[in-house]
Amino acid sequence: MSSVRYVLGIESTAHTFGCGVVSSEGVVLSNSKSEYVPKAGGIHPREASQFHAANASATIRDSLSVAKMDLSQIDAVAFSAGPGLGPCLRTGATAARMLSLMAGVPLIPVNHCIAHIEIGRVACKEDDPLIVYVSGGNTIVSAFSDGRYRIFGETLDIALGNCLDTFARALGLGHPGVPKIESLADEGKVFIPLPYVVKGQDVSYSGLLTMAIRKSKESDPNDLSLSLLEVAYGMLAEVTERALAHTEKPSLLLTGGVARSQRLQRMLESVCREHAARFHVVAPEVAGDNGAMIAWAGYLGLLKGQEIQVEKSFIKPKWRLDQVEVPWRT
Ligand code: AMP
Ligand code: MG
Repeated sequence: MSSVRYVLGIESTAHTFGCGVVSSEGVVLSNSKSEYVPKAGGIHPREASQFHAANASATIRDSLSVAKMDLSQIDAVAFSAGPGLGPCLRTGATAARMLSLMAGVPLIPVNHCIAHIEIGRVACKEDDPLIVYVSGGNTIVSAFSDGRYRIFGETLDIALGNCLDTFARALGLGHPGVPKIESLADEGKVFIPLPYVVKGQDVSYSGLLTMAIRKSKESDPNDLSLSLLEVAYGMLAEVTERALAHTEKPSLLLTGGVARSQRLQRMLESVCREHAARFHVVAPEVAGDNGAMIAWAGYLGLLKGQEIQVEKSFIKPKWRLDQVEVPWRT
């Protein structure tokens, strides 16, 4: 498999249709995307998948053009097989199967969570960090152990990004919600008590969201945003600190779309300082959902024979991070 030089990756788990090309050295040659933004409310799976179908071709063309390549130079095609929204995953998988057949190259199924981890790990050059993965759909504290990324804490209900984005919508702020709430929080002064729910190593954000929306009718939006972020990030920092103490990992990697939050970065950095652990954040260009991370994780999987026949390339909407064998790490 040493002849593999360039891998193309397709991402389509939720709001983003992405296509990226990476080299076998982990260099991102292109990372094109189109993002579905609902007219109102949260993501509508069928509408999102139709958006992806309509934008797939242009996004793939753009990615190849930015990388200055044509399909014949691609050595393998990777796609996000899960976890994610069924209709969206199916659209991306269809595009990836077609590209793999057209180019006559291997097809590799990639777990989306693994991709967020590996794209962060290749850049920070840490072999074995504790991972905090926070996005619109996932909130996971994970560490590699015995062949897999084990879960040392996760949300019991909604994801951190989903909680904050839904609150932002309730306040009439647009998308993406997290940076908008962060700007309001910068002006906040008074802490408003909100439910802080940590159960063992897991967090729960749905009651916090309900209470924050309820209090939005009577509270100053800046104070409420500040309080919501302090509680939501504080819960995550608590379980992260325990995971760091328990696993004794030498470093921490913050990855996923919400990793771009400087407030969250500051909080986790201070946890790291207390435990003498090195702190890293994924680069903002590859923090949110993107095709390049799928391509890179696909490359790692291909090296260990994780290619799949088109007829067997089913999507896995509920594919958990800790179900995946990670043979490229020992
Ligand atoms: P992902 O699902 O990984 O693409 O991440 C999407 C999440 O990232 C959403 O919850 C967004 O509100 C959030 N997000 C987008 N931009 C930023 C930013 N600059 N800082 C923090 N979070 C952000
Ligand atoms: Mg994601």
